[in-house]
Amino acid sequence: MVGLFYLIDMKLKIAIQKSGRLYDDSLRLLKECGIIISNGGNKLKTEAANFPIEVYFLRDDDIPQYVEDGVADIGIAGENVVYEKKKKLEVLEKLGFGKCRLSIAVGKNENFSRQWLNGKKIATSYPVLLQQYLDRQKISAEIHEISGSVEIAPGIGLADAICDLVSSGSTLLTNGLKEVETILPSQAVLISNKNLDDDRRSLVKKLLFRIRAVQKARSNKYILLNAPNEKLDDIIGLLPGMKSPTVLPLAIKGWSSVHSVLEEDDFWDIIEQLKEAGAQGILVVPIEKMIV
Ligand code: ATP
Ligand code: ZN
Repeated sequence: MVGLFYLIDMKLKIAIQKSGRLYDDSLRLLKECGIIISNGGNKLKTEAANFPIEVYFLRDDDIPQYVEDGVADIGIAGENVVYEKKKKLEVLEKLGFGKCRLSIAVGKNENFSRQWLNGKKIATSYPVLLQQYLDRQKISAEIHEISGSVEIAPGIGLADAICDLVSSGSTLLTNGLKEVETILPSQAVLISNKNLDDDRRSLVKKLLFRIRAVQKARSNKYILLNAPNEKLDDIIGLLPGMKSPTVLPLAIKGWSSVHSVLEEDDFWDIIEQLKEAGAQGILVVPIEKMIV
């Protein structure tokens, strides 16, 4: 009985961003994993009704530290923050959102080469990652650390170049800058404390199983189509499927219905080929969860 009580009482603590670019997608991922939590609002933490998990809402920059210290067991943060902070953590899974890149940008009229950076002053909020890059490239430049609005530094004469996060590049453009080098492609990752006990580890395993099923489902589509029987061999040849496609006879003689699963990446190519091969009435349906 004591063991059971302990199991019911024990909760996995996950840290996610309080508000900002990762907030919505982090909550959505938990929701798609069947973990229902009340909206954070201004609360520091909340509990899930149907999974032994407690959610802490923190600034993204603080999440690696809290996870290293064990205040939270796991967390969701951008790779840019995780690698800048150099904490002793496990990176369990890339989560496919919060995509951006840490890049060097210079004035749009500069004639840039890597050697151009020698002796220059670079403004950034990522001194560790920038220094690692400069060391790799054997470039000697001065790093000027600032915490926000890095993109205005060249315009006000504070630096010759910047190293900052970019997604669309529109912020650079409006500040008269151009992106010249990518230092680190980044996305949100699930991180974990290195010393979790067995109970927490098994909860993390359970959560990861669900996350992977959600991710797999997102990148795949269920496809249904009709085809005359004499075209079936060609059509089946185009379809990968989880094992092989399902083929069912239609009420009309000489026709079949074919069901399969397609990866989003090669989706449009295959659809075109299927049409050319004689497929008709093609339906594409989202998959909610996919367990392979
Ligand atoms: P906090 O108050 O939590 O410290 P913040 O202002 O530092 O918030 P956001 O701007 O919300 O953080 O960015 C959080 C994370 O989103 C970044 O660390 C990065 O991993 C990711 N991200 C994705 N695209 C971008 C982008 N264009 N600019 C900045 N960060 C981005
Ligand atoms: Zn931050």
